[in-house]
Amino acid sequence: MFEDIPVGVGIIYEGERIRGRQMQVELGGPRERYKFELVQARKLDEIEDGKIEIIGPDLPELKPGTNHPFGILIEVAGKEIEKDLEGVIERRIHEYTNFIEGFMHLNQRYDIQLRLSKKSYEKGFNSLRLLGEVLKRLFKSEMPFIEKIQITFMTDPDKVKEWYEKAMEIYEARDARARGMSDDDVDVFYGCSLCQSFAPTHLCVITPQRYANCGAISWFDGRATAKVDPKGPVFEIPKGECIDPVKGEYEGVNKVIRDKSLGEIERVQLYTAFGYPHTSCGCFEGCAFYIPELDGFGVVHRNFKGETVNGLTFVTISDLTAGGRQVDGFHGLSIEYMRSPKFLQADGGWNRVVWMPQEVKERVKEFMPPEIVDKIATENDVSNLDELREFLKEKGHPIVERWAEAPAEEAAEAPAEVTAPTLELPAGAIPIQGIPAGMGFRIILKNAKITAEKLIIKADRGK
Ligand code: SF4
Repeated sequence: MFEDIPVGVGIIYEGERIRGRQMQVELGGPRERYKFELVQARKLDEIEDGKIEIIGPDLPELKPGTNHPFGILIEVAGKEIEKDLEGVIERRIHEYTNFIEGFMHLNQRYDIQLRLSKKSYEKGFNSLRLLGEVLKRLFKSEMPFIEKIQITFMTDPDKVKEWYEKAMEIYEARDARARGMSDDDVDVFYGCSLCQSFAPTHLCVITPQRYANCGAISWFDGRATAKVDPKGPVFEIPKGECIDPVKGEYEGVNKVIRDKSLGEIERVQLYTAFGYPHTSCGCFEGCAFYIPELDGFGVVHRNFKGETVNGLTFVTISDLTAGGRQVDGFHGLSIEYMRSPKFLQADGGWNRVVWMPQEVKERVKEFMPPEIVDKIATENDVSNLDELREFLKEKGHPIVERWAEAPAEEAAEAPAEVTAPTLELPAGAIPIQGIPAGMGFRIILKNAKITAEKLIIKADRGK
């Protein structure tokens, strides 16, 4: 795409994964406390168009196979540029960086993880200046309202820390803007299909009370972007008739979801983890997960290391949730959505949450009902479900009353018994009438429940 860039640049490289053993260097990532990416709108006379600066060591000075604190500051100016565009321009760093052969970018804001492959480094992609060149050109060609752009990379640990702290304040100020607004105050929501390259059936629905899953795009950001780039990946969704105000289901949203997922997803309910939950691409900041043993929810965020209270890690939960699917009991989310009064509204809201990491609790506790804060356990209180059950009883968590009520309710609501047909799977291919095995068809079982009395794993010795 660019003759003076020593590696390929284009959409075909999006989705490349760079494993630890393949990487030249990691910038940011889970081992680094300080990392960020930030876009700031400036006045036209405040920045120098095309300037790329590196504060700290450049790629050749970073020992191969190591990780480093990292910051990206992009300053933009243009007559049409307003503050509300910062969040969406910032989110495109993810997309454009992933266009570079051998460069991987994950997550957003304070949580970025970038890896450069050894192969691309050896091909000559050996300076952050080259990354700046690519970003500069892609931003200006894809977003023509950007008249001037100036890019600063930081690898100097003190500088990264200093800017990380500034960036956190800026993110908080952005997030606070939509607080206090209600979904009922507006006629349109916004959709974002930016992550469809990773999860083709996923679409984020951004409302005043449901921030985008990645935590990077608010309703205001959506509005500003749809205005300057109406054909772009962020667009208006007329709400249409409200089908269910508690679950958060809207006629207009369902229509757009059906179109954008090519019929794969038919309905979405924004404020529940059951039935028709909002899909997740994999970029979410956190995830709510149902714990059937306690009939409550745990919440885990991306930076949580180790196992959650039910023994699953964030990565496992993420794999179960991501990919643009609707998975009962899982709800990909942003931290800001946890501050919304609509958070899991249809499932009982905060009264249904039984466990969450201390770090997340600290970040959202101001927005939780005060009486529930100490009744939700963290990793500092319990380490397994038995301990959690005792904790909830001792603290008088509202879920305990739910346990007492459950048998009667279940008996009243129990559906007539349905016997599922038995499907016996022969070893090898599964012949289905009219569809020859091995011809590349995809079989989707909807609402199927598969049970097994026994799981036997045998070594395949060619028989
Ligand atoms: S997570 Fe959602 S809002 Fe964020 S970039 Fe992806 S599709 Fe857009």
